[in-house]
Amino acid sequence: MYISFISRSITDFCEAYRQIDGRKKSSTFVLALKIFRIQSLQSFMTLSHEKYMRMALQQAQTAKETGEVPTGCVIVRHLINADTYEIIARAHNQVELLKDPTAHAEMIAITQAASAVGDWRLTDTILYVTKEPCAMCAGAIVLARIPLVVFGATDPKRGGVTSAFRILNHPDLNHRCDFISGVLEDECRALLQNFFRDKR
Ligand SMILES: [Zn+2]
Repeated sequence: MYISFISRSITDFCEAYRQIDGRKKSSTFVLALKIFRIQSLQSFMTLSHEKYMRMALQQAQTAKETGEVPTGCVIVRHLINADTYEIIARAHNQVELLKDPTAHAEMIAITQAASAVGDWRLTDTILYVTKEPCAMCAGAIVLARIPLVVFGATDPKRGGVTSAFRILNHPDLNHRCDFISGVLEDECRALLQNFFRDKR
């Protein structure tokens, strides 16, 4: 998929380059290469975000099958030497099973990830979750120093990132966390809506 994106972009670029007059070709070429590189990286990251969000969706599906609110979470760690990511946590909501109000997918995944890393600071990680984290989970994400959160559906009533509260980039906290919302949003939202509709 990534390769086909690159070859399609190169074809488009070559066609545009043929139509530029001689003197401007050199600087245009350098600029185009820069833009192409950024776009390729963004496209690659989008594909990666979708890949890990699909894994989080599988976790959410497991939650649904066991009668839990269907939320799933995956945490990956950047391996700098290999320039790749490894999965260090996968979890789903287990509030009903454990009879524990804190057993949200993100909380369980953060504990797993800290254990895998051997440190409470999860500074080289990305957290993927199907639903916007609540205030509790957003607080834990900040405490864990997670630099990036990617989530699917927003939670307009209780969300702790962009909806009810804005905890991840709150100016009074000592750590800021970037976020990307709306990755596989329709699928994440449909899973939640179907669950609550079936419960009624
Ligand atoms: Zn939560």
